Amino acid sequence: MEPSLPKIKTNYDLKEFLTGFNSDSEVVRILKKIGVRPSKGLGQNFLIDGSIAESIVNSLRISPEDTVIEIGPGLGALTRHLIGSVRRLVLVEFDRKIYEYLSDVLSGLDGVEVLHQDAVKFDIRPFYVEGGIKIIGNLPYSCGTEIIRNFVDLPTPVDLAVFMLQKEVVDRFCAMPRTKSYGFLTVIARSAWNVEKLQELSFEPFTPRPEVNSAVIRFSPCDYDTYPPFNQRVLKRIVKCGFQERRKQLKKRLPLGNFKWVEICEELNLKETARAEELTVDEWIKMARLIDDNPLKDNPQSGDEMFDVVDEDDQVIGQMKRSRVHSENRMHRAVHVFIFNKFGDLFLQKRSRLKDSSPGLWDSSASGHLNVAETYHDAAVREVFEELGILSDVDFISVIEPSENTGWEFVHLYSCEHEGPFNFPYSEIEDGIFFPMSVIRSWTQERPEDFASGFIECLCNYVE
Ligand code: SAM
Repeated sequence: MEPSLPKIKTNYDLKEFLTGFNSDSEVVRILKKIGVRPSKGLGQNFLIDGSIAESIVNSLRISPEDTVIEIGPGLGALTRHLIGSVRRLVLVEFDRKIYEYLSDVLSGLDGVEVLHQDAVKFDIRPFYVEGGIKIIGNLPYSCGTEIIRNFVDLPTPVDLAVFMLQKEVVDRFCAMPRTKSYGFLTVIARSAWNVEKLQELSFEPFTPRPEVNSAVIRFSPCDYDTYPPFNQRVLKRIVKCGFQERRKQLKKRLPLGNFKWVEICEELNLKETARAEELTVDEWIKMARLIDDNPLKDNPQSGDEMFDVVDEDDQVIGQMKRSRVHSENRMHRAVHVFIFNKFGDLFLQKRSRLKDSSPGLWDSSASGHLNVAETYHDAAVREVFEELGILSDVDFISVIEPSENTGWEFVHLYSCEHEGPFNFPYSEIEDGIFFPMSVIRSWTQERPEDFASGFIECLCNYVE
């Protein structure tokens, strides 16, 4: 799609930018004009082969509704193939002069934003409001791994990413067990993403030439049923310990808690002499599930749980099984708890996909039903402990009347302050992070379908 050129006076030529700088001399000329001397520290090796750039962009499978973030746009080798083809394009460039150049030459182009930021620290949380975004970048090799981590570490709103970086790092992401490249990076990335090496490049299509070969890698999310649920924090902890001395046998390295190594090997069908590099991603995940010490990690929800049923004045009128309470829309009691950190950000949990209600949706920090004869306050303290693994008192905020949106629950809303980290049961919670309230408010307005309806009721009530 040809972008329509804006009629805004700039110092640089947009037509020239869109045509591209496809030789050493053209790159040198434009760099001189904008006052940049290529920096090794910033990984400034500019791609000068238009067809390679186009093939990299094509592998991102863009469509006109997409929001795309490009990291390190530089002189626009990839950018020019994105402009005009996506709804929103956000360019994150750390070099101030290049940022000023891009801001100038692209000013007035609809849907294109240029940000002067470090992609390692870039805050991706505001992009949840977009409902899934794509990332692309010919990355600075000095900090490529940190940048990738910032965008693909879970939870993330990213649902497809294509990066070019040094071949050696791409090989680490794609490595097979029992090879030198297989390690922490491989296991953690592949526990969440399918990774594909798309092409390898020598130093030739760049100016200045890099000292190492490059490769292009694509990250697409694993299907939900690729692995059973597990806690990412536990996986990271054991994989990190395991690979700290990759040649040593795991039995001497892992934090096993109450488990014995022999029992783990028996359960997972591993050799007792196994080393970190011999375990597949699947085996690491199974081990993380086994070693996870959360007492409620495998607690299935039971339709046989008993709840108090109440009348419209919230007076108990009897008891009934959970399944009946829900299927007959009987009024009952529940609590929601909002946990804030010292910055005033609210912790949201992503409900497990195994839950019987609102699976996979974002929800209050903690929530749940009252047990028979339990008080609202005690239930709130208990839920915070069971769902997040912390002991904390809670402050009462408000009462939310029963409605279809609360699932016919009388909800008492509480809050408390805590910085985390939280230890949650993977059968209940898939993930969770703190979000600024401004992000939550625009996200709930734009995409209420991403949230459990009870949370939205609580949020509206809280905001009011
Ligand atoms: N995309 C251009 C291309 O393909 O020719 C430039 C790629 S060059 C390898 C890396 C780019 O990333 C440079 O423009 C550099 O200034 C920028 N950069 C370096 N460190 C960065 C960081 N931490 N955050 C954002 N951009 C960064």
